[in-house]
Amino acid sequence: MTAPLHRPRPGTPDTQQGMRRRNLSRVMHAVAAEGPLSRASVAGHIGLTRAAVSTLVDELIRAGLLEELGPQRPGGVGRPGSALGVSGRGPAGLGAEVGVDHLAVCAVDLRGEVRTRAELRVGNRGRAPGPVLSDLAALVRQVAEEAAAEGLRPAGLAVAVPGLVARGTRTVVRAPNLDWHDTDVSALLPSEVPLRVDNEANFGALAELWLAADSPADFLHVSAEIGIGAALVVDGQLLRGTRGFAGELGHVPVRPEGPACPCGGRGCLEQYAGEEAVLRAAGVAPGADRVTLLAERAAAGDADTRRALRGAGTALGIALTGAVNLLDPRAVVLGGALSHLAPWLLPSLERELTRRTATPTDGVAVSRFGSDGPLLGAAHSVVRAVLDDPMGVAQAA
Ligand SMILES: [Zn+2]
Repeated sequence: MTAPLHRPRPGTPDTQQGMRRRNLSRVMHAVAAEGPLSRASVAGHIGLTRAAVSTLVDELIRAGLLEELGPQRPGGVGRPGSALGVSGRGPAGLGAEVGVDHLAVCAVDLRGEVRTRAELRVGNRGRAPGPVLSDLAALVRQVAEEAAAEGLRPAGLAVAVPGLVARGTRTVVRAPNLDWHDTDVSALLPSEVPLRVDNEANFGALAELWLAADSPADFLHVSAEIGIGAALVVDGQLLRGTRGFAGELGHVPVRPEGPACPCGGRGCLEQYAGEEAVLRAAGVAPGADRVTLLAERAAAGDADTRRALRGAGTALGIALTGAVNLLDPRAVVLGGALSHLAPWLLPSLERELTRRTATPTDGVAVSRFGSDGPLLGAAHSVVRAVLDDPMGVAQAA
């Protein structure tokens, strides 16, 4: 069973205590999203009296979650009030990513700023989960120490993995590109703070939902790297599927009799549009900075590279056609490392989608987070949990 990041909220009875916690959360969310704000502005945003808000704000200031920023700029209505901001010290979210060829960890404060970050280039394919997670634990310790030096205290650790995570658990059921099976991450990654584990495509989509200024509440997000995953967001919530395995776009067959895939199938999308397939088709040897190399070659007009990217775009378009026809998302967003190659992928991708879908699409948007999406989404999932139950975290500290 998964330990919830803080305390179980769904069962919180509708008592005065439950209402107070919800109102503390509403104040935190308002200041985090709109701040700096005066007490009167917070009251206006959340529809409580100024007196009620003052009590909540005082409690949050005492807990070190909000801080007074001094008199607000003139121009407001009524007496000038002191502006409130979210504290840049105190609880922070730790995000981590296990990639096929890298590990990364970052700390994000309650203001949403990445305060420290560490990365290790290391080939993880075929390595046992134990040594990989031991390397990750060392990076987590390094980032936690750097964060502590800035007055930050980790409130939780969220790990993005390139594989299927059973819903409500921290077990990677299958990660074909790592060759992991039924790996309980919590047993191999001791953590002093609450730990959550999720598929990288889910965290990538959440980063888009929470951090992109103009993100719709309904969209299909594609994370294209060595593996290709997708996540569907409906009404601001991830659609996870019964077992938590929704979004395995990379293993949708593009050509049923195509090349064998590590998943056991044939002709999967990853065999045509995954990073390694694109490198092979372009005649580029795998190695560091290969996406940059592909972009440079494509920009210079290299015919093989452009043909490889056109082919990948066509395969993505064919696979996405099924998803778009079935789910009718408001937008399709391309994220992950391959989003840096969008200028050469999108024309053929959009041509396939336009040809094959029942309704005209608005085209495919490109995430500005690129390969950082999963790491940022992971760290922000902890930050959101703090904003959702601020005193639960303050009391747990
Ligand atoms: Zn496959």
